[in-house]
Amino acid sequence: MDIKILLQFKNQLIKTGNILKEKIKELSKVPEFGEDVSADDEESNETEEFGNQLSVAQNYKEQLAEIDNALKKIESKEYGICEKCGEEISLDVLEVAPESRLCKKCKKLS
Ligand SMILES: [Zn+2]
Repeated sequence: MDIKILLQFKNQLIKTGNILKEKIKELSKVPEFGEDVSADDEESNETEEFGNQLSVAQNYKEQLAEIDNALKKIESKEYGICEKCGEEISLDVLEVAPESRLCKKCKKLS
């Protein structure tokens, strides 16, 4: 792969990773529950909301792990190679999702 293109993907991965880290930090904050204990309904809504927040954060963490994996592969010069069949992943796939592990063909099969 052309080094310029590789660096472009690397920058993109780092940038997306940083955005995800920020979002995870935001979402992991425990919300301040109102001190008005009498408002039971409101409090249970807030707890539920925090639960949703954590599942979104979990989602972001998984995306972040994919990005870290791709960055490691850039370091070890294995980036852009399909993990299943060993073929090169086409650029149009990487442009949409630079953290892709599989080529178009294997992605369809999985
Ligand atoms: Zn493949």
